[in-house]
Amino acid sequence: MKTIDDFAVAGQRVLVRDDLNVPLDDGQVTDDGRIRAALPTLTALKDRGARVIVCAHLGRPAGQPDPKYSLAPVAARLGELLGRPVPLAADVTGPSAQAAVASLRPGGVVMLENLRFDARETSKDDTQRGLFADELAALAGLYVSDGFGVVHRKQASVYDVARRLPHAAGYLVRAEVAALRRLTAGIRRPYVVVLGGAKVEDKFGAIGDLIGVADRILCGGAMAFPFLAAQGHKVGTSLLAAGQVDLARAALDLAARAGTAIILPSDVVVAGERAANAPHEVTAADAIPPDRMGLDIGPRTARLFAAILGEASTVFWNGPMGVFELAPYADGTRAVASALASSKAFTVIGGGDTGAAIRALGFPDSAFGYISTGGGASLEFIQGKTLPGLAVLDEPCIQTSQVPTQTDPEEVRHEEQPQ
Ligand code: ADP
Ligand code: MG
Repeated sequence: MKTIDDFAVAGQRVLVRDDLNVPLDDGQVTDDGRIRAALPTLTALKDRGARVIVCAHLGRPAGQPDPKYSLAPVAARLGELLGRPVPLAADVTGPSAQAAVASLRPGGVVMLENLRFDARETSKDDTQRGLFADELAALAGLYVSDGFGVVHRKQASVYDVARRLPHAAGYLVRAEVAALRRLTAGIRRPYVVVLGGAKVEDKFGAIGDLIGVADRILCGGAMAFPFLAAQGHKVGTSLLAAGQVDLARAALDLAARAGTAIILPSDVVVAGERAANAPHEVTAADAIPPDRMGLDIGPRTARLFAAILGEASTVFWNGPMGVFELAPYADGTRAVASALASSKAFTVIGGGDTGAAIRALGFPDSAFGYISTGGGASLEFIQGKTLPGLAVLDEPCIQTSQVPTQTDPEEVRHEEQPQ
């Protein structure tokens, strides 16, 4: 996998795919973690005199322009962090984008509007995606993949455009791959995986591949209920979707044969509703009352999980142990975070909400081995799956419009000096 260090980028138009899908509240970026994660690559490119074109998506617009999902707040925040304004094109690959790119000077940075304003970005039709990728590729001479959170998606700006331009990984993608590789080969044992959160369906997709690789899988959050139900316990009004109990039963069978222990909560914090001020109590996991929902692992479970994590040499954690956003249900997540923070194990945290949880609970990023910016992408990576956006970086491009070579320094006029 080549990185941006392998290319002479001075004067080149470089299209960078970032993952800038940040939470917004009233038009303000509430957590700029993903924007910050994009900075090392963008700063290096601009300092080396590249003409930088940033592309990204935000939210789920319906394949057409929608002001609600404009990248304007993101471009503004990126400009603040880079110390110079980042102009935002009014369209993705249209006249405004082309004009913005044409006026780019070496060391300058512009942003294209939300990629998902064009339905072809996420189309299942290769031809449609290809046509959009052609338009994106026409804007630049080099493609840089740095949006790790999207590399598991076969989308035009992630996959197809890399086939059309010389390409390189950015520093974020390189760092993510280096950290996550340590969870796929030469793993130091015991290897403990902690799964929680609410996107239970996604996590069931991973669990089958982790069984047999991990020594122990600790299940908290809403991930625990299908398993408790599979063991014949009632889970009250806890989050539980149809079909999940069968998946859990199959996972338990597989784990028993593979020698991987799936460890479930023995107690849970329950309440009548998901609210901070609802009366709540701790019950045994096999005695959740019919009108109560489990919103956190209980204290006995938290102690057990912390003890197991204290003996691990490698840990991957994806998914909070409870509804950490509400103070009464944050203790389980806090217990896992503090066990990892004080452990000597190589610890990797994946998942947008899990990263947000440790920050909200006041843990410094430096307390953990690596905090992945990708939820689905990191989970698929450690399952050993082929991620289209990474695989394509190891392939040559099919249509080379313009191969970057050593640029004549005379050609590069630093009209805009990088700051
Ligand atoms: P990540 O983004 O880290 O992969 P998810 O998106 O799967 O995590 O889940 C995060 C959400 O899970 C949080 O908003 C949290 O409130 C919720 N959650 C955790 N435990 C429970 C639970 N027992 N019941 C309902 N929601 C839960
Ligand atoms: Mg999430």
